[in-house]
Amino acid sequence: MLPEHTLAEFRSALGEDRVFNDATTLAVYAHDETPRRITPEAVLFPTSHEHVVALAKIAFKHRIALTPRGAGSGNVGGALPATGSVVVSFECMQRVLEFNPDDRLIVVEAGVVTDDINRITRAAGLFYPPDPGSSAYCRIGGNLAMNAAGPRAVKYGVTRDHVLGLRAVTGSGETIRTGCRTTKGVTGYDLTRLLIGSEGTLALITEATLKLLPAPESIATLRVCFASNRAALNAVGRIMQQPVVPCALEFMDHRAIDAILPTGAASDLPPGTRALLMVEADGAIQDLPRQIAALKEALAGDGLLELRSAFKREEIVQLWSARKSLSHAVKRIAPLKINEDVVVPVSLLADFVDFIDHTAQACQLAVVSFGHAGNGNLHINIMVHPDDSDEMTRAHHALDAIVQRVLKLGGTLSGEHGIGTEKRRFISQEIDPATLAIMRSIKQQFDPLGLLK
Ligand SMILES: Cc1cc2nc3c(=O)[nH]c(=O)nc-3n(C[C@H](O)[C@H](O)[C@H](O)COP(=O)(O)OP(=O)(O)OC[C@H]3O[C@@H](n4cnc5c(N)ncnc54)[C@H](O)[C@@H]3O)c2cc1C
Repeated sequence: MLPEHTLAEFRSALGEDRVFNDATTLAVYAHDETPRRITPEAVLFPTSHEHVVALAKIAFKHRIALTPRGAGSGNVGGALPATGSVVVSFECMQRVLEFNPDDRLIVVEAGVVTDDINRITRAAGLFYPPDPGSSAYCRIGGNLAMNAAGPRAVKYGVTRDHVLGLRAVTGSGETIRTGCRTTKGVTGYDLTRLLIGSEGTLALITEATLKLLPAPESIATLRVCFASNRAALNAVGRIMQQPVVPCALEFMDHRAIDAILPTGAASDLPPGTRALLMVEADGAIQDLPRQIAALKEALAGDGLLELRSAFKREEIVQLWSARKSLSHAVKRIAPLKINEDVVVPVSLLADFVDFIDHTAQACQLAVVSFGHAGNGNLHINIMVHPDDSDEMTRAHHALDAIVQRVLKLGGTLSGEHGIGTEKRRFISQEIDPATLAIMRSIKQQFDPLGLLK
């Protein structure tokens, strides 16, 4: 338990109403999207960069571990409090500090909700592309820490590709500024890219200068049904070979289709559908027909059962309904999902999905796969009953086999969800000892006492 005098120091620096250690608050902040719970010692709600500097200095003086937190929507246990730590919630740092359409940038505090950025910028014809599925409530600080991404990554890239600079506070309470305000700039080491994706282990990010793009004028959607996973994934390869880059290229496997059948969301899929692609194009209105024609040509091939197009908003929503119902539908299969977020080269996706199928059958497990096929990023959901120890053992065997296969195929452990506490045990399988040693020494520079967990 934190001594009363330390709590008093936090209160004096942040204000009485910014430091909580009552049972209700501690329970709310004891978990993220993962099932585990660890009760923190206290929860702090800074409202400014200066507050974050002050709290980090107090934590450094008393050697108190800190767990930064946005909305707690992460699914790898990153915002799960480390034992004995104090949670630093960025929810009350929601100011937009500058919006400059001429320079195509926006400067925001870490607690701004991702969708709010686009609500502001779209009015000026600009947009911030990264679109994690949680964008209605996750915070930009959490996105930066995790290098979050979504369907648009296939065309526009990930969070890291849209940040000009950061303001942050190190583990010893020093303020650092990284990057610049311009779209060109090569002065010094690129600490912006280093901090993005560092999962809160190097510094507390307080502000970000984000790069904006002109918002696309229009969008068109294709829903494409296939007779097999392989037919759909071969079509993904054909799309990636031709010059029109879709702004979404999403895949659902046959088990995902089976999962949505009881919800009714698949009622308009043709009989025999065993895999689905959602393909989108965006751009100038007059250019969309050309893009859609090129994508349709690439999609045509063995196993294509049906292709539907939509250009109007309501029709687009309707076409996405099968895909959007999936997260909810998988919860009916089993109470717990072990969610992997691996990436393999696009050209090897079909072989990899065959391997997952084979592993699921051999281990007698329900495994639902879907994801951002254009990036080779698959969400593999092993559905389990945590009370069934035999099933849990089989699930862990399957997981080990999947990770081994991913690495053998030249892939990586995580495309967007990160490592957190959930996947730490696998990291030395992907990163060699010499590289890990450099990473540890970088951590030591930013956080000499190892307080940022
Ligand atoms: C329904 C659903 C859909 C999702 N879809 C996607 C998706 O499409 N793509 C995707 O990438 N992710 C997705 N996620 C995962 C999650 O939403 C993202 O990782 C998101 O970026 C987390 O943001 P958050 O504000 O909730 O951060 P949190 O979960 O609170 O924190 C995430 C990590 O960031 C650290 N952190 C938070 N704020 C800061 C800060 N200011 N400074 C330093 N470190 C900080 C935390 O310590 C933690 O390690 C999804 C999650 C859910 C529940």
